Amino acid sequence: MKFMLKFWGVRGSIPACQSPDEWALHISQILKQFFKSGYSRAEDVSLFLNEINPQRLSGYGSDTSCVEVKSDQGSLIIDAGSGIRRYGQSIMSGLKPNQEHHILFTHFHWDHILGLPFYAPIFRRDQTIHLYAVQEDLENAVRIKFSRPYFPVPYEMLPSKIVYHILEPRKKINILDFQVTPYQLDHPDPCWGYRIEKNKLSYSHCVDTEGTRVSRQDLGEDLPLYQNSDLMYFDAQYTLPELVEKSNWGHSAAQIGLDIAIRENIRYVVFGHHDPGASTQNLIEQAKQTREYHDWRVKAAESNRLETHNVKWRYGYDGMEVDLAKLKNFD
Ligand SMILES: [Zn+2]
Ligand SMILES: [Zn+2]
Repeated sequence: MKFMLKFWGVRGSIPACQSPDEWALHISQILKQFFKSGYSRAEDVSLFLNEINPQRLSGYGSDTSCVEVKSDQGSLIIDAGSGIRRYGQSIMSGLKPNQEHHILFTHFHWDHILGLPFYAPIFRRDQTIHLYAVQEDLENAVRIKFSRPYFPVPYEMLPSKIVYHILEPRKKINILDFQVTPYQLDHPDPCWGYRIEKNKLSYSHCVDTEGTRVSRQDLGEDLPLYQNSDLMYFDAQYTLPELVEKSNWGHSAAQIGLDIAIRENIRYVVFGHHDPGASTQNLIEQAKQTREYHDWRVKAAESNRLETHNVKWRYGYDGMEVDLAKLKNFD
């Protein structure tokens, strides 16, 4: 039974890699670490690189929102941020005649749709692209992306067949062998997260959201998005002080996600929608603060004899894969 995730783009707002100055600083830190670790010869480089945590070495990535949910029957894609370009390239050589593609949209802010004109299968005549959203202006949002002066190929010239599906809020539908239910998130323009289920395993996609509704009462009919989920992908664009400063900007902090995860018995969390201004070093620091907060929460609950559970979590990076059926390996 296959239920896997691949995060093709975890950056928020706009694609952003580190600046040349930030890269220079990063490389100098890595080189210093090489010598501090006792290495000195060119032949030791591969050995040293293999020892370093992959994020400390190569960072978290630069592409915007795109998550692939895979089963034996095919893939569901959530959002067409710039990360969908690499996904599209990865499937081109194995493309079958008359293949069907399934892309769900959370909302149409640029960082969630800007990759669609670079999704290679959309330019193949025998391919069918199913697009899904709760928002009724889905077709209009897509047509704008393929219109001058924004893009040279007009919508009418696209050779593939595009089929639109408008989803009902909180109503379960079947796509491939997944059950998919849209729930509303907390974002300035309406944004819909998805709970995706199969064989008692569940994935909750909660990006973009500010997490302004935290209590069960406030979450109301959107509470099932979170309850007992095996893995939640949560918007952690800001640190807590930034969240106070940028209230109503529609993004959250890891600590808010952890609070929800601990209460709603969520087993694992991936944090994403990283701020375009966050360097690798910033994200390593945020992950450290999140660890301190998590450990403090667990200790506080234990000393008050309150029931709690140990949530496992990770900061997402472009290209990260998670096998939901083998979550024990996730730390
Ligand atoms: Zn976004
Ligand atoms: Zn947004």
